[in-house]
Amino acid sequence: MYPNISKLNSFAKFFFILLSLNAVGQEKNLKNIQKLTNGGDNAEAYFSPNSSLLTLQVSNPKANILCDQIYMYDLQSKSYSSENLKLISTGKGRTTCSYFMPDGKHIIYASTHASSEACPAPPKPREGKYLWAVYPEFDIYIADLNGNIVKQLTNTPGYDAEAVVSPDGKKIAFTSTRSGDLELWTMDIDGSNLKQVTNGLGYDGGSFFSHDSKKLVFRSSRPKTEKDIKEYKDLLAENVVAPTEMEIYTCNVDGTDVKQVTHLGKANWAPFFSPNDKKIIFSSNHHSTRGYDFQLYMIDVDGSNLKQITWESEFNAFPMFSPDGKKLVWSSNRQQTAARETNVFIADWVDSDETENVKPELLNKHISYLASDELKGRLTGSVGEQKAADYISAQFKALGLKPYSGKTYLQKFDYKVRLSPNDSITDKSETNNGRNVIAYLDNKAAKTIVIGAHYDHLGLNEHNNSTKPNSKGEIHNGADDNASGVSGVLELARMLTKNKTTEKANYIFALFSGEEDGLIGSKHMAETLKTLYPNVVAMINMDMIGRLSDKKEMIVGGVGTSPEFKKLVEKNKPAGFNVTTEDSGIGPTDHTSFYLKDISVLNFFTGTHGDYHKPSDDTDKINFTGVKNIVEFVFRMANDVADLDKLEFTKTKANAGKTRPKYKVTMGIMPDYSEHPDGLHVDGVTENRPAQVAGIKEGDVITKIGTTTIKDVYNYMEALGKINPGDELEVTYVRDGETKVTKVKFE
Ligand SMILES: [Zn+2]
Repeated sequence: MYPNISKLNSFAKFFFILLSLNAVGQEKNLKNIQKLTNGGDNAEAYFSPNSSLLTLQVSNPKANILCDQIYMYDLQSKSYSSENLKLISTGKGRTTCSYFMPDGKHIIYASTHASSEACPAPPKPREGKYLWAVYPEFDIYIADLNGNIVKQLTNTPGYDAEAVVSPDGKKIAFTSTRSGDLELWTMDIDGSNLKQVTNGLGYDGGSFFSHDSKKLVFRSSRPKTEKDIKEYKDLLAENVVAPTEMEIYTCNVDGTDVKQVTHLGKANWAPFFSPNDKKIIFSSNHHSTRGYDFQLYMIDVDGSNLKQITWESEFNAFPMFSPDGKKLVWSSNRQQTAARETNVFIADWVDSDETENVKPELLNKHISYLASDELKGRLTGSVGEQKAADYISAQFKALGLKPYSGKTYLQKFDYKVRLSPNDSITDKSETNNGRNVIAYLDNKAAKTIVIGAHYDHLGLNEHNNSTKPNSKGEIHNGADDNASGVSGVLELARMLTKNKTTEKANYIFALFSGEEDGLIGSKHMAETLKTLYPNVVAMINMDMIGRLSDKKEMIVGGVGTSPEFKKLVEKNKPAGFNVTTEDSGIGPTDHTSFYLKDISVLNFFTGTHGDYHKPSDDTDKINFTGVKNIVEFVFRMANDVADLDKLEFTKTKANAGKTRPKYKVTMGIMPDYSEHPDGLHVDGVTENRPAQVAGIKEGDVITKIGTTTIKDVYNYMEALGKINPGDELEVTYVRDGETKVTKVKFE
């Protein structure tokens, strides 16, 4: 398996970061976590059949254990420490992979002592590659709990190790090179009746039996390309492997019905069946951007429902459930007192609350309905908007949620609508009305968190907010913008209401209308929020979370509005996501309305795209796996914010240029974040900054910077990203219908 934990750790020390984060709310499956050992490398701890003892592998130079040896650990001890360890291997050579025999009075393990009493040297990394030794001197022995070897089970040349015993006590599974490749084998408990189980080229190893003794779960590296195959064979000829690519598999004990469970890439290993054999817990770094960050995950045996279990430290592996299913032991770098140490931990296992799983079929149902032609694009004040409001109200009612205020979930508002983007709002402008749909989950908590999204969209482009020319009369379905965010709020409402936990916050679920006409609904709600709910501490917004790219890039805005947010985002972001954070509490969507009332805000956004504000923003283009991962992300954030004792509000600089470190220059304007097809509307200019110096005024519409056409705030930000301080560029703008050009010196 991983005979050289110390090697892993020397690798780890380069990346050693002591995480001082509080994991409350995240490792929900692990209660009452206790550290069993203190210092050195302690790993591969496995329970005895009655759960009272562990057998594990230890090396610890400080305790003069210089080469991995097998120790027993008594879990009945009064207190937990390394003093409970008792040597039960010979103390000679190197040992690995021990496991209790069915009687609980003997163990099985692999050792090199018969070949030499010295410690075999670990392989040196080659070309920067981390290597494992598969020492050919390893043979498998049975010993009693006083360190006496009572039987040798293997004696063929080559590697024999990684032995485990079936729960029914009849079989032993192990890994051997006797066929010329690293394969799984079984034998009867007495060492007879040898059978080869796997035969694919690659390292099949680290197997464990299912609780009904019928299946094996294991991990395998399966080199595919000619180059990889050659490298694998060359290394194996030197008794080493490079364990960087491994996936989890299952098969019947006789080797039939081989199934690949994970397709995650990188190293997925140390699998173990859950107590009911329906899931597999394993260690993986597939999410990591730098290789060394192993966390425990759980996955259904059919490969669905991947779920992260551990979130602490950079190394979590070798999970094993106690035979009664009540406890989990594993090895981890958490709670270190010195760098490089790995200790064994035990925790009470708490099954996941199934109501807290995001249901993809519900996300699909919500988005499909809201973005269907029946709702005609949900224009604020239209019949389609009212249908959407009825749908959302029905969801809230089914959950038994209270109205935000008054007797219904609806909060109505009137506003003057700008029918053409060049119009200014005057008394003669047309009056429109809209309705927010808002519910309240009363957890009798001292603080309240708003989770929101806008549900309105562009309708048939009556208000001229489309980016598609001449699209009046075409239905703008708005699947990403923002049926996706609405589906997220509705799922979070269901999860937080129906789960078994009573959170330390009350939640307001707010679906806004009037967003596309200028954040009208959210502004309206923000006006009354602090009067009605003085203990509100945060607002979490989702606007356009449906288009996660292959690179899993997303933007979390508003992280500068509380000192707590950056580390919470870092801690909770989904595996493998490339999350860009932006400090500013001001952005082109509804969280802005709450930031302006001094409330800490976060905004989740998967980025703009070619269908943005076009009739083609449809349900079939939604990345539902992405939406699911983001809603889970927001769920963890909503829990962690609830768990904070105090959430401090901080003001951020409103100027986009100042708050986005990737831009080297600013222009000194306040852009209008609501959408206009004709260019970037200037809401204000700062004294003595480049725009003002060049004569640009409030109300101007910028259409071009240099050679870049500016259609909206996104183009504008893109353009700024390419400009260096001191660059002088022509800026084209429209004032009172007249096109003007001026030179702006950017700084
Ligand atoms: Zn929009």
